[in-house]
Amino acid sequence: MDKIELNRYKRHILLKEIGGSGQNILKNSCITMIGAGGLGSIILYYLAAAGVGNIKIVDNDVVSLSNLQRQILFKNEDLGKKKVLAAKKNLLSLNPLINIEIYDNKFTEKNYRKYINDCNLLIDGTDNFKSKSAISKVAFSECIPLVYGGLSQWEGQICVFDPKSDSICFGCIFPNDPGQEFEESCSNLGIIGPTVGVIGSLMSAEVIKFLTSSGKPIMNKILTYDCLQGEFQEFCVDKVQSCKICSELNKN
Ligand SMILES: [Zn+2]
Repeated sequence: MDKIELNRYKRHILLKEIGGSGQNILKNSCITMIGAGGLGSIILYYLAAAGVGNIKIVDNDVVSLSNLQRQILFKNEDLGKKKVLAAKKNLLSLNPLINIEIYDNKFTEKNYRKYINDCNLLIDGTDNFKSKSAISKVAFSECIPLVYGGLSQWEGQICVFDPKSDSICFGCIFPNDPGQEFEESCSNLGIIGPTVGVIGSLMSAEVIKFLTSSGKPIMNKILTYDCLQGEFQEFCVDKVQSCKICSELNKN
């Protein structure tokens, strides 16, 4: 790291759990952010600011007016632009020292390979069962750790999945597809902006912790946040032996 980097990341380097070596690990890390919406906005901002050196962003959406209430990575001037393009521009204006690769596409079980090349960690910022299930399948079949987050109205939840530690996966928590009708009704229920910020911040912290091996990850349990009640809760989740995502893959 040069003088400018040492100064920019000084407050990280001062943390004994991170230090200069941890900051170098962040600089040399590669993460793939799937979805550049509400969660992606927060996570990408923090990880770019933190100096995570190589960031891949996968999203095929366009910035719309109703996004700006919570997707704070985007500005009024970004309306109508592709989210990946606006995200790259705004993140590089925050930190020009990092590399950002963008993919204007949807992440699927069929097309994922180029998005996870050299990737140390996947981050799920999507908002539907199909995508979340597909991302978890890819993480477990390719043996890449995954930070998962989910949101609904005033509530959110977070969990870290690590195939190398034989942890639970998305399928252990949600074995059944709730169906498109249920998801469409959820997307019309609204969402409070700051809950997105809370969950996105927790996910960013888990990414930094995981990459630098600091502390212990939120694993094999879900941490939930209820904004209306002002409460955090933890729920232990057991690995499901018949899980379609992690157990069957592990047996092969
Ligand atoms: Zn599982």
